[in-house]
Amino acid sequence: MRTTRLLRPDPDGIVAAAALLRSGGLVAFPTETVYGLGGDASNPDAVAAIYAAKGRPAHNPLIAHVVDAHAAARIARFDPRAAAVADTFWPGALTLVLPVRDARLLAPAMVPKGAGTVAVRVPAHPVARALLAAFGGPVAAPSANISGRVSPTTALHVRDELGGRIDAILDAGPCDVGVESTILSLTGPRAVLLRPGGVSQSALSEVLGIPIVQTQETDVLTAPGQLASHYAPSSPVRLDARSRGANELWLGFGAACEGADMSLSASGDLGEAASNLFAALRLLDQRANGRRIAVAPIPERGIGIAINDRLRRAAAPRSGD
Ligand code: AMP
Ligand code: MG
Repeated sequence: MRTTRLLRPDPDGIVAAAALLRSGGLVAFPTETVYGLGGDASNPDAVAAIYAAKGRPAHNPLIAHVVDAHAAARIARFDPRAAAVADTFWPGALTLVLPVRDARLLAPAMVPKGAGTVAVRVPAHPVARALLAAFGGPVAAPSANISGRVSPTTALHVRDELGGRIDAILDAGPCDVGVESTILSLTGPRAVLLRPGGVSQSALSEVLGIPIVQTQETDVLTAPGQLASHYAPSSPVRLDARSRGANELWLGFGAACEGADMSLSASGDLGEAASNLFAALRLLDQRANGRRIAVAPIPERGIGIAINDRLRRAAAPRSGD
């Protein structure tokens, strides 16, 4: 059992958080997407501790977070396509899977066996950037939740789930984007979307000038977004609900959902809906008391594609429990 400190996102808090990372500790911190569970990506014990705290399956690799594209180029190889998207979307909600440049800078678990690749992201959140600058190296940071459950968008979500298992949480209020980064693999000739997220596929393919292919089942690695059940509350979830059924709580979207128990965005704003998604699922789950969570239809465009992706995983049959 660890004592979990709540740290303010001020200079003292950042210094304390960076010192914890340096000593192999685990620090949850805000990013613009969701709260991440950070550990020193070069320290095998810290990386192992992340897997243990989350109960994350060993085959699911982690994203290395770095302060800027320069730091990213020390650990990964950028071809002109990767340089172009990094230039346009970093700092931001885009993760690139690239060939590893120098595996000695990373714990072995950061580079999936046989793949020779690493996932990197430069987050935009000022507190994440301050922490990465103070720490000075890559930080492994999956979402700060128990594996398979709903991602955290506030420090309290993190404390509820990982309190006692991690050393500190930097609390900077709710996350802005609210769904995880888009993951784009540029390890071969094709540009492959491994997970839809905060940066839209159309914006990416416009910069790349080539179409982006969706992940094939034949692709070597799976992203958690491809696992059937993920991002899941305890309660069952029903999608495309145009009204509340018996024994259901109804999560609305847009004006046509009068009488909903809660709304992702009353005005039908997809950005607002993404930002509210995980907090709403957690709140309704707490109130559900055996009831099902029914979710209104969400338009399949822009960040709505990422919202629907997460909702489908949340509604998928649960294998383990
Ligand atoms: P998260 O759970 O948000 O930290 O997401 C991490 C995602 O990045 C997972 O889907 C991983 O499968 C994916 N990922 C990380 N490293 C690699 C890699 N080297 N190759 C392919 N996917 C990766
Ligand atoms: Mg996650």
